[in-house]
Amino acid sequence: MGYDLASPIQYVKGVGPQRARYLARLEINNVRDALFHLPYRYEDRSSLIKISQLAAALADARMITVAGKVLSAEVVTPNPRGPRRGGLRIFELLLNDGSGSLRAKWFNQAYLKKHFKPGQDVVLYGVVKNNYWGTGLEMTNPEYEIMDDGDDDTTHPSSDQIHTGRIVPVYHLTEGISQKQLRSVMYTIISSVVSSVRDTMPHEIISRYHLPGLSESMANVHFPGPGIALDSLNSGSSPYHERLSFDELFTFQAGLAIIKKGEVLEKGISFHPNGSLADRLRADLPYTLTGAQERVLSDILNDMRSPVPMNRLIQGDVGSGKTIVALLAMLAAVESGYQAALMAPTELLSEQHYMNIHPLVEKLGLKIQLLTGSKKNKNIETISSGDANIVVGTHALIQESISFKNLGLIVIDEQHRFGVMQRATLRKKGVNPDTLIMTATPIPRTLALTLYGDLDYSVIDELPPNRSPVITRQLSEKQKEYIYQLMDEQVKKGSQTYIVYPVIEESDKTTLKAAITGMEALKAKFPQYNIGLLHGRMKPAEREEVMREFKKGSLHILVATTVIEVGVDVPNATLMVIIHAERFGLAQLHQLRGRVGRGSGQSHCILLNYGAAEDAAKRLAVMVRTNDGFKIAEEDLAIRGPGEFFGTKQSGLPDLKVANIVRDAKLLEVARKEAFALIEKDTQLQNYPELRRSIEDFWGMKLDLFKTA
Ligand code: ADP
Ligand code: MG
Repeated sequence: MGYDLASPIQYVKGVGPQRARYLARLEINNVRDALFHLPYRYEDRSSLIKISQLAAALADARMITVAGKVLSAEVVTPNPRGPRRGGLRIFELLLNDGSGSLRAKWFNQAYLKKHFKPGQDVVLYGVVKNNYWGTGLEMTNPEYEIMDDGDDDTTHPSSDQIHTGRIVPVYHLTEGISQKQLRSVMYTIISSVVSSVRDTMPHEIISRYHLPGLSESMANVHFPGPGIALDSLNSGSSPYHERLSFDELFTFQAGLAIIKKGEVLEKGISFHPNGSLADRLRADLPYTLTGAQERVLSDILNDMRSPVPMNRLIQGDVGSGKTIVALLAMLAAVESGYQAALMAPTELLSEQHYMNIHPLVEKLGLKIQLLTGSKKNKNIETISSGDANIVVGTHALIQESISFKNLGLIVIDEQHRFGVMQRATLRKKGVNPDTLIMTATPIPRTLALTLYGDLDYSVIDELPPNRSPVITRQLSEKQKEYIYQLMDEQVKKGSQTYIVYPVIEESDKTTLKAAITGMEALKAKFPQYNIGLLHGRMKPAEREEVMREFKKGSLHILVATTVIEVGVDVPNATLMVIIHAERFGLAQLHQLRGRVGRGSGQSHCILLNYGAAEDAAKRLAVMVRTNDGFKIAEEDLAIRGPGEFFGTKQSGLPDLKVANIVRDAKLLEVARKEAFALIEKDTQLQNYPELRRSIEDFWGMKLDLFKTA
């Protein structure tokens, strides 16, 4: 019919300029976009039930579909002289299908009156019940579709077959377009272009996994043929859905494989550390490294010795001791005559890394420089001259004005806060420097394969000895006195406490408890104790001062906001109280709790729940149940879904439109295996030019940026 995948949506029959503008809001600009705007659910309307036979459907209370003509559509006010006079308004529709009549009611939705008029053909989808008085059958708040709303396009002669009498697709809509209109447009597209969709997947792979054809899959995902199980459609796991997900995951992983292969081919630095600095540092440590730390460090050192630029992700739960591993890697770079940089996502964290590291490395006779946005960076020439062996900072490190003499190793802490682009920009400050990325939030494997699929990775899967798991409890405001008592006990035994608040100050906009008021109350309660305050609106110098005091042990209690969420390390702190714990996400709670349990004493975490929401209670229950960051991350991924978890958007990676890495975890593994094997065999995809084009289309500019990064 003259469209191809790139045709603007406007030219598809039944669309036109006005609707094209509406569709653009759904990110449907051309025919291809429309094909990938998949139904988000399906309704089985393959069997319409006659109204005269509805009584039989009463017993099992399942969803049923009836179709008929509107006899009347009125707003009624029941019992106007009753006690709720003026309150309740019900919109009532009376429907007849030739076999009988059915009443449908919508409570407090009087506006529906605008949509319906007598004579229209409508379809209702819902549960039928005997009404209150037992005088007849009715549906309450059914879903509805107006089949004939007066603007029916005659261009769709087959329209009855697409809206009823089958499993019908239901799409996400935007204002200005009805379900039925969109469905008709989709039907036009499917019937005209789907057979010309080119399948670029290698034949071997299609036959190895018995994948259905691509056109067939597209057609069935939008307009399922008879005999496909409704459940499999609604869960997105029909064979046709899986084919589309597989293609998307394969294309994604192939891009990662290309990036990774390109990096392997690049020439990087071969470090030759002699261990002199590292040995002296180790001799100075009050502990020995755990087996897991040693194993990960040797992975890193092997990478550093090799001429291929290192790109390694280190995962390790909070408190697993990533910092010392990173420092030893940096010393290996310095021993080999290079500079090393450590980039952290916040000023507080950079300052803390600096505070921890500088006494250690200065003893070794090295020079270390702190670089953050708010510090007036007077000494940046020490970086360009090569005087500074190690530079610690925020993303201020990647500013244009900063240059290194010979940057050999980059360590990025808490990577998920940085995008892929920032990582690439920092790498450009050196000539193919080695890159080490550390993340404190454990990432489920499937997500790691997506977000960090171009990296090698190692896991520090062991905590330092003598740590007992933090005991976590969920308490309510009523137990306040008990919490005070806990704090008092901490102070008496020489331990320290964190109290975390969701906001700094009280305000008219919320009823949340705030850090400043909280601190004042505590001071009144415990006048004999030293209580500090830490939040993001303080000047960095003030913050540093407070942290130093707390670290030294001269503050008994630190009242803070979530600025302390990541990385802060004070082993003597053994109690954490989180006020309004219901306001925080799982990953955040786990990070916060990770501030305690870092020493050998038994630590406690109190989650103070002021809310009543069920999903918050669910999150807090997960926290009480386990200290295992991987388990928490899995639960989090399941509760929030992959899109929100970490914001894949800011990672700079392409979006997944069809696949869902939780649901499709198995497919992902297979797609990754096949994609990496193919790129290994044929890096340039010389034998698969069409596949290569679809990978480039999917990744867009990003693939080039990665390649040259
Ligand atoms: P994270 O992995 O959360 O960044 P850190 O590197 O901050 O953890 O380490 C947490 C604490 O454990 C620090 O106080 C650190 O000095 C200590 N630590 C690290 N490794 C060991 C070890 N092998 N044995 C004992 N304590 C250790
Ligand atoms: Mg850390």
